[in-house]
Amino acid sequence: MNTNKLDINDIDLRGRRILLRCDFNVPQDGGGAITDDSRIAAALPTIRNLLARGNSVICCSHLGRPKGRADPKYSLAPVASRLSELLGQSVALASDVAGESARKLAAELKPGGVMLLENLRFEPGEEQNDPEFARKLASLADFFVSDAFGTVHRAHASTVGVTAFLPSAAGLLVGRELRIIGGAVTEPERPLVVILGGKKVSDKLGVIRNLLSLADALIIGGAMQYTFEKARGGRVGASLCEDDKLGYALEMLALAEQSGVKLLLPEDTLAARDIDSEPVVCASDDVPDGYGGFDIGPRAVARFTEELKTAKTVIWNGPMGVFEVGKFAGGTLAVAETLANLDATTIIGGGDSAAAVLKFGLTDKMTHVSTGGGATLEFLEGISLPGIDALPDKE
Ligand code: ADP
Ligand code: MG
Repeated sequence: MNTNKLDINDIDLRGRRILLRCDFNVPQDGGGAITDDSRIAAALPTIRNLLARGNSVICCSHLGRPKGRADPKYSLAPVASRLSELLGQSVALASDVAGESARKLAAELKPGGVMLLENLRFEPGEEQNDPEFARKLASLADFFVSDAFGTVHRAHASTVGVTAFLPSAAGLLVGRELRIIGGAVTEPERPLVVILGGKKVSDKLGVIRNLLSLADALIIGGAMQYTFEKARGGRVGASLCEDDKLGYALEMLALAEQSGVKLLLPEDTLAARDIDSEPVVCASDDVPDGYGGFDIGPRAVARFTEELKTAKTVIWNGPMGVFEVGKFAGGTLAVAETLANLDATTIIGGGDSAAAVLKFGLTDKMTHVSTGGGATLEFLEGISLPGIDALPDKE
């Protein structure tokens, strides 16, 4: 995939009415109150950049899964008021997506003004990438900026469709994802060490294969390790293990050997009868019956830390253990702390991995914590993202 895309700092954008695809898919409590506004805060630099140049901005986003019809439960009203507070100026909310209300507010919008459309997924044409809906959406503006990295792996009207009708560019968030992750997967400073963990091998088949072909060393932890251990003939007790992926794991082990990539599996494991019981340390290929492995052990931590010390680029996806539970958070914390103190480009991808780093208070110590979730995994898998392909290349 070509990641060298035009962004808003490459062009002289002035006096335009800009349709800005944001990621305002924020978590809410039962009463609709926003419980974490970091996605709204993250959009501010792009919005301010555009406003400072005398443009007006029509923000749009999806929120939840309203399935193609207007549902007040998924209204962007709480987002409009939070955005207005954070920006320090009023943000008008249209009562529809690209209908009469949106058209009227867009026509009245002055340079420096900001408005928000209702939830894009109130319209069935959004997820269907219907050209007629895309045309209506595009007709509100005269330029399109794509800044919702979390949805660029979906070909929707607001990520792909509108680019057929408007000149387009990436916003600052998408631009940064492309620059940093794109750089790491195309021309990384070496050694490149990839750390993979998390729950399932089957969630990450393509990621393992693609990163294995790029990395100098591949570290495997999390529940994923037990599928590899069992494939090599180890005993994994009651650990999470995907018996239908043993063949795949063997194939990856062979591929690593063929391509001269160092593949590191944990030597030891913290195992317990269940998540509430006291853990014991055991060999990763000899977990007692009735015990499950919930974190990497101390020898594995030491070995992984050692390997990471010389890395110049690190890509990390997937926690080393059940970090949500204090006594099984040690492996993930040790890796996070090692990365935080490294003189290297450090990239964190994946929703739970980002949550772990945030929980440890180390987000700011990483070069980049990707906002993408599924889009980031597809990026790491090396497959094309339709919402990126649709943007024009840099000159
Ligand atoms: P990401 O969202 O970063 O891609 P995943 O969704 O693949 O990561 O995996 C995260 C989950 O994996 C966490 O909820 C964590 O508790 C779980 N996990 C990690 N190691 C283990 C393990 N040994 N046993 C069970 N669950 C595990
Ligand atoms: Mg996850």
